[in-house]
Amino acid sequence: MKRVTIGVFGGSGFYRFLKKYKELPLETSYGPPSAPLKISTVEGKRVAFIPRHGEHHEFPPQVLPYRANIASFKEVGVERIIAPCAVGSLKPELKPGDLVICDQFVNFTTGRRDTFYDGPVTTHISTADPYCPELRKLARDAAKKLKLPFHYGGTVVVIQGPRFSTRSESRFFRDQGWDVINMTQYPEVALARELEMCYANISLVTDYDSGLEDDPKVEPVSHEEVIKIFNENIENLRALITEMIRTIPSKRSCSCGTALEHARMEA
Ligand SMILES: [Zn+2]
Repeated sequence: MKRVTIGVFGGSGFYRFLKKYKELPLETSYGPPSAPLKISTVEGKRVAFIPRHGEHHEFPPQVLPYRANIASFKEVGVERIIAPCAVGSLKPELKPGDLVICDQFVNFTTGRRDTFYDGPVTTHISTADPYCPELRKLARDAAKKLKLPFHYGGTVVVIQGPRFSTRSESRFFRDQGWDVINMTQYPEVALARELEMCYANISLVTDYDSGLEDDPKVEPVSHEEVIKIFNENIENLRALITEMIRTIPSKRSCSCGTALEHARMEA
């Protein structure tokens, strides 16, 4: 089989990306991924797809097999991951339907298995800039070309879930100046870095989390609303990802591929 170098995750409401594909059931050292990998060719490049919540949304965010998903991409040769997800907006100017190409995350999850390196080799990777700068630029250029509403840069705060935030929690996150809120970006992005893979997040705003302070008419988020907005925007997302895949150069020019250099404690 030709090496698959691009991985795409599907998020809530995004369970299918490839039209014709081969399924590859895989078992990693961390268990099976959320679903068998679907493998196909897009724009002349080999692409693997995993719906991160499973085919039927059977894995809620707090029990997702994050390590198995990332490890299975690695196993087939993936170097770059494009990871769309649904997010709530923490700022009035980030509107439902907008895309945010995040450059930072803040982790508020607890108890998730968030590393491949539990010893004996102690490994401390840098996540100062957790998202791949090269892929982020490609996402921006694709959004521009397709005339999609997007914001280049943003901080996603990742909560444990599965419940949505209280109004007080949401106000706290807004007061920090953070942009969007989600339940799956951590540890997914950090695990990708640990295996020296590039990772870009495309956040699709589906709601205003617990509402908008100045507009009592805006209802707090519901899962139904998330899926509705996602469905309305799915074709845009598909077009954006396809354009990114088309423009990805074969050689990486970022430093994601050498993340483990100088990250290990040598006794
Ligand atoms: Zn990179």
